[in-house]
Amino acid sequence: MRRWVAGTEQSAVAEPSIRPPGGRAYWCDACRVPLLQSPCSVCGQDGRAVSSSNMRPVFAGEIRSLLALGAPSWLGPPRDFALWESGGRYYMGGYAIARLRRAPAPRRVSVEPIGKPAAQDARRRRSPLMRRLVAANYPRLRELEHQACVFIQEAVSVYPDRTLVVSFSGGKDSTVVSHLVRTALGRADILHMFADTGIEMPDTYRFLDTFRRDRPSVPLMVIRASADFFQLCHEIGPPSRIQRWCCSTQKAVPLGSVVNAANGAKGVLCFDGIRRAESSRRNGYLRITTKTKIGREVLASPILDWTDLEVWIYGLSAGLPINEAYLRGFKRVGCLYCPLNSAWSEALTALHYSNEHELWIATLRESACRAGHPDPDAFAQGAWRARAGGRGLASFRASVAASPCESHPHRVSYQTTGDWRDTLWSYIGMLGKLRIWHDDGMIAVGVLQDASGADLMSFRAVRPRQRLEVTYADGKGHRLLRQRIERQLRKYQSCVSCGACAAICPTGALSMHDSLIFNERLCTFCLKCVSMNCVAVESLTLKGRSTGAD
Ligand SMILES: [Zn+2]
Repeated sequence: MRRWVAGTEQSAVAEPSIRPPGGRAYWCDACRVPLLQSPCSVCGQDGRAVSSSNMRPVFAGEIRSLLALGAPSWLGPPRDFALWESGGRYYMGGYAIARLRRAPAPRRVSVEPIGKPAAQDARRRRSPLMRRLVAANYPRLRELEHQACVFIQEAVSVYPDRTLVVSFSGGKDSTVVSHLVRTALGRADILHMFADTGIEMPDTYRFLDTFRRDRPSVPLMVIRASADFFQLCHEIGPPSRIQRWCCSTQKAVPLGSVVNAANGAKGVLCFDGIRRAESSRRNGYLRITTKTKIGREVLASPILDWTDLEVWIYGLSAGLPINEAYLRGFKRVGCLYCPLNSAWSEALTALHYSNEHELWIATLRESACRAGHPDPDAFAQGAWRARAGGRGLASFRASVAASPCESHPHRVSYQTTGDWRDTLWSYIGMLGKLRIWHDDGMIAVGVLQDASGADLMSFRAVRPRQRLEVTYADGKGHRLLRQRIERQLRKYQSCVSCGACAAICPTGALSMHDSLIFNERLCTFCLKCVSMNCVAVESLTLKGRSTGAD
């Protein structure tokens, strides 16, 4: 096996792939279980390819959910593993017997028969089936575990000074990673960090309690997002497929604030359960990377190439605890109000977490009414996911009112919005050395210099009029500097104190308390904070023509 040298992209790509043949699902007709490899290691027969995508087990609770959503009674009786699901189709005995269809709200899904159920499968007992499932897939399970453990041990040996952390979400993937890391390293005392977005599924909170009770030697830290999800919805609009600010504000930022403080400049080696199979956008993800939203983190993904079925069968074989949400039929465990949640997930949320669901629908309606949306009900029932820009929101905060000076070619006067706040100096200070020569409380005058002490621009702030007059130095860099200044002004005006720019800072020069605080002495002017896209600016910016979806 080739060794990778962590930290470089090329070597991480060279890590041998453990992707299964085509990611397909196979079925052993003799043992009546899905296969991760062919032939079956119990009976030796070749597996039959049953689906082009992955399979997952269906538990009794999901059959009850299906029946509650109007599925025909022949799907039952509710028993674990009587059915398997793949790509919205339900399989019994390796044959598709039903599929989920989209339906209008409020039901959102319907179940349509597409074949005759095999009666013998519905009666089979759980424990012999489980034993056969594990035995039939044993070679692949051992191979997966071995490769993941080798990867984890190597990552730790490459980054010996870093504090080890497991990013724990309460889902099946991070539960498997938690188990693998503790198995590979032969110790339980690896810090587990759970980012509590404030909008987790109620079952996830119960799962955390169980996990903590059953594994008292595993330190589990719950990090609550300081930004209130509903308050942010009010300020910058609800998240959408395009405006997924919540991932940053509710997850990456609170995790980042703890990770960045955990081990000083040495940083953290974080193991997470990210998998490519979850989304095509993750095709480019690396098994180990420093390119994360958190400045002092190296992220390692031991199960990056595992399929759903591999995670499921491995977890079952190891006897890992299962979040109740999966038993109800959720394919993923995550935020209740993720704009990427499927119609199926939303139907289950309405069914099982009705209070939370109604709160969200009411929030969306209120948001649509406030933004003057033509059809608030349609917005609340699904159009919110397609919101692209800040129509109807305080979008003026995301644009800069600049007036060029007629008498000086490089002088621009900026009219900022809202009351003047001196946090503006933090945003400008990230671009160079800020020197204020004169400040009487009303008017401040100063310059921005580069590393050699040469002036990049001079400025005059007139606080009572919320105005900043900038004279850019003549030179080839003035156009780029102007773009950056205006970018920073948009961030200053739109800031909701989410802390994303502080989280990405690798040196701790930026910190977020009530407002952004910048420490020039710690700054290396890497400009990561400047180049990152501000989620508040993005969410408030007007985009395209009015489509009604905005
Ligand atoms: Zn078999």
